[in-house]
Amino acid sequence: MSKPLNIALIGLGNVGTGVARILLEQSERMTRRAGRAIQLRRVVVRDVHRPRDVILPVGVVTDDLQSVIRDPEIEVAVELMGGIHPPREVVLSLLDAGKDVVTANKALLCECGDELFARARELGRTIAFEAAVAGGIPIIAAVGQAMAANQIVGIQAILNGTSNYILTEMLLRQQSYAAALRQAQELGYAEADPSLDVNGTDAAQKLGLLAQLAFGRRATTNSFHVSGIDRIEQADIKYATELGYTIKLLASARLIPPVPSPPSAEERVRVRGSSSGQEEAPGLLAMSVRPTLIRQDQPLAQIHGPYNAILLDGDVVGTVWYSGRGAGQMPTASAVTADIIDLAIGRAQLTFPRLDLWNDTPAVPVMPEHAVSSRFYLRLLVEDRPHVMADLTHILGQHRISLASVIQPEAPEVEAGEPTTTVPLIIMTHRTTAGQLAAAERELQAAPAVRAPLMTLAVAD
Ligand code: NAP
Repeated sequence: MSKPLNIALIGLGNVGTGVARILLEQSERMTRRAGRAIQLRRVVVRDVHRPRDVILPVGVVTDDLQSVIRDPEIEVAVELMGGIHPPREVVLSLLDAGKDVVTANKALLCECGDELFARARELGRTIAFEAAVAGGIPIIAAVGQAMAANQIVGIQAILNGTSNYILTEMLLRQQSYAAALRQAQELGYAEADPSLDVNGTDAAQKLGLLAQLAFGRRATTNSFHVSGIDRIEQADIKYATELGYTIKLLASARLIPPVPSPPSAEERVRVRGSSSGQEEAPGLLAMSVRPTLIRQDQPLAQIHGPYNAILLDGDVVGTVWYSGRGAGQMPTASAVTADIIDLAIGRAQLTFPRLDLWNDTPAVPVMPEHAVSSRFYLRLLVEDRPHVMADLTHILGQHRISLASVIQPEAPEVEAGEPTTTVPLIIMTHRTTAGQLAAAERELQAAPAVRAPLMTLAVAD
């Protein structure tokens, strides 16, 4: 059998503890799978005195990162610290010291991926990052290897378990957004500061990494539309259900093929069949993360709780889909450990240089938000008086937005002892562009009959 692979963990928190447990408790399985023993030689933490949930061999835990960097016997280091600084500097030092790196840190890769991957390529080293997107779901291997015969043309995914848990509680137990969020925090599905989960940033970072792999396009989170679930109300969940939909935080990326530009007058008079010599306009990538109404019979609508799911459309295979736990200690540790085994075997070193990652090839541009086409759901609170409906539909008509359906739930004549003066109005539009909708929205907001800010959600049809 080959000589053991010596590794170091940088970080022994939630995920690091899970990885250490697998390596120590399943060492025989790891040896069989890797074809060589995997030895945990160092574990770097901030506080060496803190009690840990895993028993490590004496002398392994240290707060001295240099003891890893200077040890030539350590071939693989696993960055599980979280955040961007110092992990960026740590990963660069590890690569410079000749080590391959495993990381679960999507924020680091989104922010510094170009620099880190360039350095790894330059030094002939490998960065493996299966755990950085969708935790336990092997999506990086699926996109990077298993679907290699395909051009991926579409990705539709639920990538944030916290948001999905909250939306599920709002749907199945009629909880308010605030109560569902509190519960997610009590169960450990949401951080004390849940902003990055509920405002769509976390899902957008993961979508950015997937798009990078699938389309060779570096799409930072500010280059496409990102919104989260933090404005969704119980009323939206209820009306969506009545309309036959479920609201999900949908991350999607779709390749829009190039459209040949129409021939010029001069080209039209050329002999038929001869090449016009004109270039095709480049295709576009339509990307977004936003709460979206999905038909109840679609697979993504049925993903409940803290789960993730990803549908990939390949031009050869058609649609394939993956689902499972997208975060949490052991699902994430499962993905990290698979990367360690791949490095031990030498497989990751072979596939890494072939991944279309942060290289300099030209890539399709991201479609500007105003041009993205979709159906939309609008919820308004309007004055209960004649002609209101006509006034509002007139505004939409002026922006060439046609209505698929309108619901005006009957309001009680009297509420809290007062005559009711407002009613909710729910409008489903036909397909339009986000730009046209935004222009109509501005006018609707200013209309005297509209009493509260509008809720606008995309509809995936
Ligand atoms: P965590 O529980 O906060 O653990 C961080 C660990 O890093 C701790 O052991 C900490 O040491 C150590 N550390 C931090 N700064 C350090 C420094 N300057 N020097 C040495 N050690 C340092 O984090 P986590 O939840 O395990 O997450 C780790 C990574 O996995 C993150 O990038 C995260 O985004 C990613 N991830 C996590 C999940 C999940 O479900 N948790 C899912 C997917 C991906 P002390 O223990 O001494 O403080």
